[in-house]
Amino acid sequence: MADAPKGGPVHYAGSAGSLKKADIFEFYRRLAEANPAPETELAYGNAYQLLVAVTCSAQSTDVGVNKATKALFEDVKTPAQMVALGLEGLKSHIKTIGLYNNKAKNVIALSEILVRDHAGEVPADRDALEALPGVGRKTANVVMNTAFGAETFAVDTHIFRVGNRTGIAPGKTVLAVEKALDKKTPQPFRVGAHHWLILHGRYVCKARTPECWRCPVADLCRFKPKTAPPRIQSAKVQTDTVKAVT
Ligand code: SF4
Repeated sequence: MADAPKGGPVHYAGSAGSLKKADIFEFYRRLAEANPAPETELAYGNAYQLLVAVTCSAQSTDVGVNKATKALFEDVKTPAQMVALGLEGLKSHIKTIGLYNNKAKNVIALSEILVRDHAGEVPADRDALEALPGVGRKTANVVMNTAFGAETFAVDTHIFRVGNRTGIAPGKTVLAVEKALDKKTPQPFRVGAHHWLILHGRYVCKARTPECWRCPVADLCRFKPKTAPPRIQSAKVQTDTVKAVT
């Protein structure tokens, strides 16, 4: 998944305030209606493989991680199998992923801990997850939510942007957005919210140019001005150009 934002351009400058309770419910209801069973785009077969995939996904795309882990996950399904594969063996599988040296070291180290302290199982609680090498709050949130169905909100760059731009969960920091989502997201959307918001940010409410003209929550969202379809935008540019030369 995409990393948490680290400064850079503010893509939600047009947002204005928080959404009301009823609008937040309707926002999620529509995203849920369009995609009733949202899933992560990372490929995995069990909780351990999910943990490995998320650990490998920092500053990398899900597509890139999936390509690298496809062959790996055919042979390695448990922490013990990863320890047996070893550091160099793991590196040879994931060398196409950015920062693979560090990621491989973390995956081997966390696998050793899972074998030694957790009977080879992925723990479901935050403290135990965050004690593993390379596992921060965001990774713990993803694993708790996706593998164990916890109501956690992993804020990556997409969710940070969508939360602020739309007004569904404004906040100046990743943790502030996470806390706002936790406070404001109603049932029955709390488990799926993480995926709905990521997918909405990745494919519709994009960073540079949100696609407001095809957005199912455009009438609820606080972002202004809304964007028009590309052909209307280019027609406007042409009209403006004609006006400028006449
Ligand atoms: S209308 Fe939709 S695409 Fe446009 S900013 Fe709002 S949520 Fe994003």
